[in-house]
Amino acid sequence: MSRYLSEAYQSLEAYTPGEQPQDMQYVKLNTNESPYPPCPEVIEAAAREAGRLQLYSDPVCANVRDAIAGLYGVKRENVYVSNGSDDILNFAFMAFAGRGGRAYFPDISYGFYKVFGDLYGVDYTQIPLEADFTIDPEKYHHRDGMVVIANPNAPTGLTLTVDEIEGILRSNPDRVVLIDEAYVDFGAESCLPLTAKYDNLLVCQTFSKSRSMAGARLGFAIASAGLIADLDRIKYSTNPYNVNLMTCAAGAAAIKNNGYYMDNCRKIEATRAETTKRLEALGFTVLPSKANFIFAKSDRIGGGELYQELKKRGVLVRHFTAERIKDFNRITIGTPEQMDTLIQKIVEILEA
Ligand code: PMP
Repeated sequence: MSRYLSEAYQSLEAYTPGEQPQDMQYVKLNTNESPYPPCPEVIEAAAREAGRLQLYSDPVCANVRDAIAGLYGVKRENVYVSNGSDDILNFAFMAFAGRGGRAYFPDISYGFYKVFGDLYGVDYTQIPLEADFTIDPEKYHHRDGMVVIANPNAPTGLTLTVDEIEGILRSNPDRVVLIDEAYVDFGAESCLPLTAKYDNLLVCQTFSKSRSMAGARLGFAIASAGLIADLDRIKYSTNPYNVNLMTCAAGAAAIKNNGYYMDNCRKIEATRAETTKRLEALGFTVLPSKANFIFAKSDRIGGGELYQELKKRGVLVRHFTAERIKDFNRITIGTPEQMDTLIQKIVEILEA
């Protein structure tokens, strides 16, 4: 830290992203990327736009916004797109809880919520998960600030039902309820249809997981026209061209080829079921996940040690040091072959 950093940010603890090692080839199961590449139409669309990079991108992002609106049966004014869904979360914390507003989210959830809370001076409360790591929806009823819930939650992979989310919406009619559906395409139930009924519901999703575009940075939100206009106001006050030309075109092409991506999701769900069974056979406890990762612990080896031993053997998973979850590792679901390697290495480690 330099002596020039504003005092307001001197105690800010930044988010620690998962490792993206550039030194060697790992079996990379640590940041919930898709193991499957983009479809050829997406690669062609991005390449075509690369030839026009001397131009700014369309600040409206009409092509990808309209594609998303078409897929989900809403209007362009109900869709916002951004540079990854982190960008949407960033703007939402700024817009709906910044400068002394309040927010409520689980103590164990996506680590960025707390960072954005700190960044914008939000008076936030982290509500503890239940002993079995589930969320009790009633603890989010009648709150005096923005409610933020990842559904499925990360890193647990556990879900709330749409009815439970509707209960939260109904009891907070004057507050924004942000449901982060980054992992919803892997078998969870989306609450997108509720955006037609509740003007305080902001649903955000990402192209980073189910649509194999983590490196392109594209996230989207669906909500009432009013909430979308609020996000646009923040975007036009910070960085109007926040989604680049190639990403806009790639995103529109991905939506046009949605079937390819949904087939990949079904493959990942089958691999998740198989991996869960194999880990349970090795004595692991695995939470029932609806995401493209599983959260698992063994009583034969600590979470940190398993992470280290796997890394030595070329397999990267994600370990968190927070007390309640330090025995677990979050393991991204890769291809069946990658999961074979994982299981083989775990057997080797447990036998050593
Ligand atoms: N929400 C959750 C719950 C996540 O796990 C992630 C991925 N780190 C994100 C949002 C952000 O994803 P992206 O910015 O790549 O869209």
